[in-house]
Amino acid sequence: ADAALNRAKQQGGSSIVFFSGEMNKETWQRIEIERSLRKALENNELYIAYQPIIDIKTGNLSTCEALLRWDHPEYGLIPPIQFIPIAEEIGLIHSFGNWVLKNACKQTKEWHQRGIENLSISVNVSAFQFQNKFFIEEVKEALKYSGLEAKYLHLELTESAMLNHTMEAINTMHILNEIGVNISIDDFGTGYSSLSYLKQLPIHRLKIDRSFINNIKTDSREYAIVNAIMTMGHGLGLNVVAEGVETKEQLTLLKKLKCDYIQGYFVEKPMPPKKFEEWYYSTDLKSKLYY
Ligand code: C2E
Ligand code: MG
Ligand code: MG
Ligand code: MG
Repeated sequence: ADAALNRAKQQGGSSIVFFSGEMNKETWQRIEIERSLRKALENNELYIAYQPIIDIKTGNLSTCEALLRWDHPEYGLIPPIQFIPIAEEIGLIHSFGNWVLKNACKQTKEWHQRGIENLSISVNVSAFQFQNKFFIEEVKEALKYSGLEAKYLHLELTESAMLNHTMEAINTMHILNEIGVNISIDDFGTGYSSLSYLKQLPIHRLKIDRSFINNIKTDSREYAIVNAIMTMGHGLGLNVVAEGVETKEQLTLLKKLKCDYIQGYFVEKPMPPKKFEEWYYSTDLKSKLYY
């Protein structure tokens, strides 16, 4: 990037001159990332990693979360926290999001056909994507294209995505419900959290943010928060998932708190499809979770 920057400077920067004077390294990197992000999809640099979500009561695989990965030819894997916000800013999130939706549904349908029965897929939806007027059509399209039954699809929305709280957002959720799609609140506890909205929304799952699970063992306040979310969630008839479970001790506490599902490195990291399949057929989950 530095070489290119020098070249641009020598050329007098006809097309970039408006950045004026010293274009710093970050600015250049940002432009470079944007440029390559626009080509990432067509260049096949995107793929989906799948992370298992386990039913604590049975020890069975219930769902997997689809997590987008960008394997940049030069920089290697770039984490989603770095490129998703850029994709949102420059409007690429719609094509990325739609691509994830279609492909995650298709992959899940294939897994059903190959014997991984009743597996659900959980797909992250950006607020921008959710607010797009074509979103419902895209969900229907993905189901049709993949042949996946709607009941196996979960959409993960963050609090801020829905708590822009317009009638339109609530309406979209109701339509998704009518189609048979499930809705989860992702990173629960980190958003605006006016709790009264929860009872009005047609949702199925709360995913407790990893930050509350981290110190659940040692921090009695975090334990109290998780306990409260669990009680409230169950009281509202929702399933509760704990994100970011890394240790057996955390699992033990979550069991005690009657948590429904766990997701985290204690079970497994997100994996590309082939690896996910190998993991599924080679792992004795029950003994890992219960002994
Ligand atoms: P998220 O939806 O909350 O996803 C969970 C994140 O926690 C993932 O990070 C996952 O790898 C990580 N994680 C899971 N278990 C553990 C654990 O035990 N310990 C730790 N330290 N981390 C754990 P990842 O894959 O880097 O994704 C980050 C965020 O990027 C996601 O957070 C989500 O907000 C966003 N994202 C990823 N894929 C997509 C996508 O397809 N569309 C949209 N709109 N956002 C996405
Ligand atoms: Mg998520
Ligand atoms: Mg999350
Ligand atoms: Mg998160």
